[in-house]
Amino acid sequence: MIQVLDSKTIDKIAAGEVIERPASIVKELLENAVDAGATRISVDIKNGGIDEIRVSDNGSGIERKEVRTAFLPHATSKLRSIEDLLILKSLGFRGEALPSIASVSKVRLFTKTVDDPIGIKYTIEGGTEVSFEEAGVPDGTTFIVNDLFFNTPARRKFLKSANTEAGHISTLVEEIALSNPHISVKYSVNGSNKLFTGGNGDLKEVIYRIYGREITDSLLPVNVSSGNMSLKGFISKPIIARNSRVMENYFVNSRYIKDDIISKAIEDGYAGFLMQHRFPFTVLKLDIPCENVDINVHPRKMEIKLSDGSGVYDFIRNAVKDTLSNREFINNFDFEKETLLKPSRPEIPEKAPEPFEAVNAVTYTENSEKPLSLFKEETVYDAGTSAQIIPKEREDERPSPVSPDTIDGTEAAPLEKPFFDDGVKGSQLNLFEEKILSRDASKEFKIVGQIFDTYWIIEYRDEMLIIDQHAAHEKVNYESFLEQFKKRSVITQNLNPPIIMTLSGEQRSVLERFLPRFIEMGFEIEPFGGNDFAVRTVPYNLYGLNEHEVMTSLLDELSSGIKDEDISIIHDKIASMSCKAAIKGNTAISLNEAEALIDQLLSCKDPYNCPHGRPTIIKMSKKELEKKFKRVL
Ligand code: ADP
Ligand code: MG
Repeated sequence: MIQVLDSKTIDKIAAGEVIERPASIVKELLENAVDAGATRISVDIKNGGIDEIRVSDNGSGIERKEVRTAFLPHATSKLRSIEDLLILKSLGFRGEALPSIASVSKVRLFTKTVDDPIGIKYTIEGGTEVSFEEAGVPDGTTFIVNDLFFNTPARRKFLKSANTEAGHISTLVEEIALSNPHISVKYSVNGSNKLFTGGNGDLKEVIYRIYGREITDSLLPVNVSSGNMSLKGFISKPIIARNSRVMENYFVNSRYIKDDIISKAIEDGYAGFLMQHRFPFTVLKLDIPCENVDINVHPRKMEIKLSDGSGVYDFIRNAVKDTLSNREFINNFDFEKETLLKPSRPEIPEKAPEPFEAVNAVTYTENSEKPLSLFKEETVYDAGTSAQIIPKEREDERPSPVSPDTIDGTEAAPLEKPFFDDGVKGSQLNLFEEKILSRDASKEFKIVGQIFDTYWIIEYRDEMLIIDQHAAHEKVNYESFLEQFKKRSVITQNLNPPIIMTLSGEQRSVLERFLPRFIEMGFEIEPFGGNDFAVRTVPYNLYGLNEHEVMTSLLDELSSGIKDEDISIIHDKIASMSCKAAIKGNTAISLNEAEALIDQLLSCKDPYNCPHGRPTIIKMSKKELEKKFKRVL
């Protein structure tokens, strides 16, 4: 028998699309708090958010006459018509969250607007209103969500362990904190504090709170704009790298998303600086005109559609590449030890959970400061009490370190040094120091000798340098090959007999599309009947490699790449393959050859890494040696 479902059932089904797990609720509530203009948000969860999620904000509040409406399906204050979608600035717009949350859990809402002398407490369970009453609450909104999926046991069974669910929530809270450095975010799990950000607009502080010291010390600032696009934030020096994309954070118009084009642009920007299959740390905020993004392609809004994908790709890739170029990245000896260190998060002291009223009263009623604008560094840190972040003009009001005035009672871990100096120091070199790999410096190089038939030891002032001759030679070959491409003077090698390759349909269409490019690069390729092609010449640098493999890997790269005939990517690829022709380690070369090699390395644009991202040079200072020998402490 065919039956029309009742509205409760329909709501529960619809809710499933929005509310998959506790983290979905946190995401919606956090986005609502951001949209409400909050400058402070706190998130507290119990049992992975399954038992309880509390989100408090000091935003606009919901007017009493709108409280019930907010829980109606498709009720939103943010969107009036489909045209608005194009110019939308808010994170939410579907008006689905509150009804969805309410239909699968027990919700208590406390809210008050500035104009209302008294607030509202609203209780709704499984979509049914339980009570609506006046209550004394501070300005802003608090949601307490209990017993997720209490009325849909089937769905509850699909939840993972509390730990896993809490992990998803942590990720979300971190994303919100990173995309909103001007909002103070506080997060606790089962009553113990996990994260606290000052909300002073300093992105670096937020990164420190989430990722810890090593990463914060390795940040390079990015701040570029072109036309109507701008990109701001930080990327890590190549020393910080992971095996997955987990630390590639970026926001488009303040929305945290995942996007293939943007990820690829970032990674291609790092090409030559990172080893293959290693991924950088980034927090980048891309701003582009709203009409150039379609955020409506995914129900959970993690994905977007860019109308000018290749423009965005070029912009980001170049920004990343430029940021990395012209800096001297010479790793210290303790490099290995440092990269193996897990990101150590700053400790946040354990502390008992606060009752809802206390959280609000202390956290929000005293908040009178306007948020500082994003990425401005107008703050003063007190090294002893870093949670205490005071705008410069109020510096004299700073409390003495003996009685740390802790915002909302949370004492966060002290910063060792202020972040606003944008310190480029650290284990990698300061940009403004004299470069070691420069012609001027090289006049003072004293080549001591070669060890293990591979490494050259050089004394330069108070530094001992070690150059990997193989990596150095690779880099020299790579850059000289790129030069040849640019000047269109690639030296070629005839293959006799030619290599016959059978291509797949996909490979064939890629080849046909890029054929003129291949010819420019020194390939001579002709159709050989059917899906067969004859390769008659190859660039000289590739000679001796398995041509079959070279071609297949190039074609696959081109077909998986973005739709952009950006020739430099292909050049890069070929050039990096050409490295295999470089002298191997374990070959004794003469002092003269070494000098010539170092000289060539110095004329490279980026002499510090081989094309696969391995370092060409490492260093140890006299001081460090003295420390190792305990001459100094
Ligand atoms: P959407 O965010 O897509 O508009 P929601 O269901 O998430 O839909 O919220 C419905 C409406 O409730 C919002 O448009 C907003 O007006 C109001 N609202 C929800 N949460 C808050 C909050 N924390 N502060 C102020 N208003 C809120
Ligand atoms: Mg919303």
